[in-house]
Amino acid sequence: MTVTSTAPEALLGVYARVGPLFVAGEGSELIADDGTRYLDCVAGIAVNALGYNHPAFRGAVIGALEKGLVHVSNLYRTEPGERLAEELVARSFADRVFFCNSGAEANEAAFKFARKWSRKTEIVAFTGAFHGRLFASLAATDRPDYRAPFEPLVPGVHIVPLEDWAAADRIISANRTAAVIVEPVQGEGGVRPVDLEWLAFLRELCDARGAALVFDEVQCGLGRTGTLFAYEQTGVVPDLVTLAKPLGGGLPMGAVLLTEAVAAALKPGDHATTFGGGALVATVALDVLRTIAEPGFLAAVREKGEALGAALARLRAASPKVVAVRGRGLMWGIELVEPAAPYVTAARDRGLLVCTAGAQVIRLVPPLVVTREELERAVAILDEVLT
Ligand code: PLP
Repeated sequence: MTVTSTAPEALLGVYARVGPLFVAGEGSELIADDGTRYLDCVAGIAVNALGYNHPAFRGAVIGALEKGLVHVSNLYRTEPGERLAEELVARSFADRVFFCNSGAEANEAAFKFARKWSRKTEIVAFTGAFHGRLFASLAATDRPDYRAPFEPLVPGVHIVPLEDWAAADRIISANRTAAVIVEPVQGEGGVRPVDLEWLAFLRELCDARGAALVFDEVQCGLGRTGTLFAYEQTGVVPDLVTLAKPLGGGLPMGAVLLTEAVAAALKPGDHATTFGGGALVATVALDVLRTIAEPGFLAAVREKGEALGAALARLRAASPKVVAVRGRGLMWGIELVEPAAPYVTAARDRGLLVCTAGAQVIRLVPPLVVTREELERAVAILDEVLT
């Protein structure tokens, strides 16, 4: 059969796709089939850290293709994954790395690792959390609308009020809790940097009760908040960190970083995935990591983030529709008094792509290579839409 059309009818309707048909990308802009350019402050939902058509990404893909090495089974050794793991270890608290293909997969793996290490079963997550759409990660995700159609979910996963000290103390159990998972800056939950003292308290509770502390940095990690890892700004060192979105530069890749103590509990056969850490994606991820980890690159993220935060604070002061602006680095949320979706549409009509984070928050997660001028343009459009 000849497929003559890629009409949306052929795609499963689990996404409410809107707007233009994108055919190309360059820097921080997406280009539609009619030639219209959109300033992209969604970036594939915090994926395209280097924007579109970045030389480091292109070079890595072409280099890998020239070697002809795209995928080799994890039954054998290949160099790119080994190098990438070494560099992630060298730049973090971790001693070992496991590669997978997405954020949800990374969290599922982290839960299994914590269970095996602790010999306990329960998982504690928090209100506002988003950890993915697979069974255990969905059970740890605080979105009733995502969960309800698929219940019963994995048992033994508790969702506890965020920043509630007494509730965490009550639920994290020496006998039952294997893992406590938290996003140091919540993404889907409305772009919410979590209280640092409470994170330190979680660390204490996990130490005292033999639970693994997992930081989900799928959205806030790898330079997004202005340091390579978000945990670096918290004063807390977790036992496991999960990564995904920007790691493969737009190719699917996830990772779990873990300490030797947890890693020692795992042996061959305990966990696996066919594509994890394949040669092509690991080659690309290594270049992405090296590019983002440059001190000058991260300093620029912090500096652009501060300017964006200041501009959004002015927007808040000027618009009665804005309740709060929150964020860190190049991850910002604008909380409104009403639903955010119409403003997302209005911005798109003016050439700016932003998305929601929960019903009433407009989220900006631009490519980390976005320029000051582009951010000023983004804020000017939001200003027009909101004031
Ligand atoms: N964890 C966080 C913090 C996320 O923001 C997301 C996705 O938005 C996920 C996990 C799930 O990642 P994926 O969609 O790659 O499965």
